[in-house]
Amino acid sequence: MSCDVCVVGSGPGGAIVADELSRAGQSVLVIEEGPLPERAEALTPKEVVATYYRDMGLLSTHWPAQVGIFCGRAFGGTSVINSGTCFHTPDRVFAWWNEALGIGFDVKAWREVERELDTELSVSPCPIDRMSPSNRLFAEGLEKLGLTGGSPLMRCETGCEGSGRCCFICPKDAKQAVNLNLLKRALEHGMRAIVETEAVKLNHNGRRITRLVCRTDAGGRLVVRAKRFVLAMGALFTPHFLMKNGLARHYPALGRHLSIHPAAKVFAEMPEPVHSWEGVPQAYRYEHPDHRDVHFEGIFLPAPLGAIGIPYLGADLREWMHAYDRLVGFGFFLSDSEHGRLFRAPGLGPVIRYGLSSRDVDNFCFAVKLIAQCYFAIGARRVLLPLLNPRNIFESAEQLEREFNRNHLQARELYAMGFHPLGTCRFSSTVEKGVVDQTGRCHEHDNLYICDGSAIPGPLHVNPQITIMTYSRLVSRGLI
Ligand SMILES: Cc1cc2nc3c(=O)[nH]c(=O)nc-3n(C[C@H](O)[C@H](O)[C@H](O)COP(=O)(O)OP(=O)(O)OC[C@H]3O[C@@H](n4cnc5c(N)ncnc54)[C@H](O)[C@@H]3O)c2cc1C
Ligand code: SF4
Repeated sequence: MSCDVCVVGSGPGGAIVADELSRAGQSVLVIEEGPLPERAEALTPKEVVATYYRDMGLLSTHWPAQVGIFCGRAFGGTSVINSGTCFHTPDRVFAWWNEALGIGFDVKAWREVERELDTELSVSPCPIDRMSPSNRLFAEGLEKLGLTGGSPLMRCETGCEGSGRCCFICPKDAKQAVNLNLLKRALEHGMRAIVETEAVKLNHNGRRITRLVCRTDAGGRLVVRAKRFVLAMGALFTPHFLMKNGLARHYPALGRHLSIHPAAKVFAEMPEPVHSWEGVPQAYRYEHPDHRDVHFEGIFLPAPLGAIGIPYLGADLREWMHAYDRLVGFGFFLSDSEHGRLFRAPGLGPVIRYGLSSRDVDNFCFAVKLIAQCYFAIGARRVLLPLLNPRNIFESAEQLEREFNRNHLQARELYAMGFHPLGTCRFSSTVEKGVVDQTGRCHEHDNLYICDGSAIPGPLHVNPQITIMTYSRLVSRGLI
């Protein structure tokens, strides 16, 4: 097949490029490894994980810490299974990008694109009455502790009924995953898309990419010739693909600088049933003014998957699951202070080195303690901290204060997960520090671009989808 632009991957980054360039009259072909998302009314959360999560949700970092990393694999990428939270890029990262990486975006133009996206994706604050009880009770707890500054999260949705399934394909098509808006509009403007087809080989001749070879799920082979190729496979698979194709020797920064925003959640058992799975799970946020690298956000999983958040097995796990209707939970993620690195191991896929620093452990302990204190303040019977350590259950605020000791904890005992991989092909003014330049073009190749989370240097301090989209739209506009 031939086209002006071949986009590999259809998540927030790829969808923006496809939409922007199709509307500008260019012929666009999207290659996506995952399937078309099915309307999820008929699917259980477990079935969604099995079909639309990369490696059935079992991807993880390898050493020194084992942290699960989650990504989607579908037409719409991870947006199909994300929580729909939307944040504008924080002011503080522009200064850092400028100083450390020599990249100075026009912040006014950046903010204009964010406003366009707010309209196109119907971004609005989550109404209090639609939040899940976990969020409302956490907000009450903050108030009891005299802490101010929490607020409802901004979300992309239209017609949300609070059914609590955002990460398992919204059954109402209310959450605005990119397959419901940008990709749909691109199709109306002539974009072609091929799903269940994996990009496997890039052929290049000097500085030019000449063709892309893909393998369909049915065993077929597809060869694509294009004037430009845009990689949008996400922060783990774009660098892996470049390594697989022998491009690592051109890019010393490839696969380095991985940030994942390590995340975890605290459960608390209330005296009465609360049914935390009803309502929007990720609906409220808080940041403490003295701990700006700790970002509190609600989350609660439907019961069939709730067990993955409980660090127990056997009878202990059963006991907590029996209490599931009385549980509340709230989460947080950290701006990581160390970067990880992604390697390629033939036959194994990406192999990831990632660790938590002592500062991350401090922040983690601050976060779990504050959530526990909030829930004790509104009457929780006991709390369960995300620690792989027998001293993780506390029955009162006093016991928590007395016995929870950060000095007893090692980084490997934290039960963390990552949802925001970023930075493995980051933009920078030089090829020593990054893979792409400010226009999104790979430093050493003339017609190869990257538009996904791998190009965004992290930590970003906020959920990344809007930043990925804004950067990708600015890059696309440079290609018209
Ligand atoms: C459970 C969960 C909840 C989240 N919640 C939020 C949230 O509320 N707000 C927010 O801002 N962010 C959230 N995120 C993160 C956000 O969704 C991602 O940062 C974002 O989707 C990344 O976009 P991307 O374009 O870089 O890649 P992705 O969205 O990951 O898309 C990459 C696509 O490329 C495809 N692909 C990979 N390799 C190939 C190949 N070889 N050939 C063809 N196709 C390929 C993949 O199948 C995938 O569909 C969440 C993430 C998770 C996992
Ligand atoms: S809470 Fe339910 S209806 Fe609302 S966006 Fe999430 S899954 Fe969709």
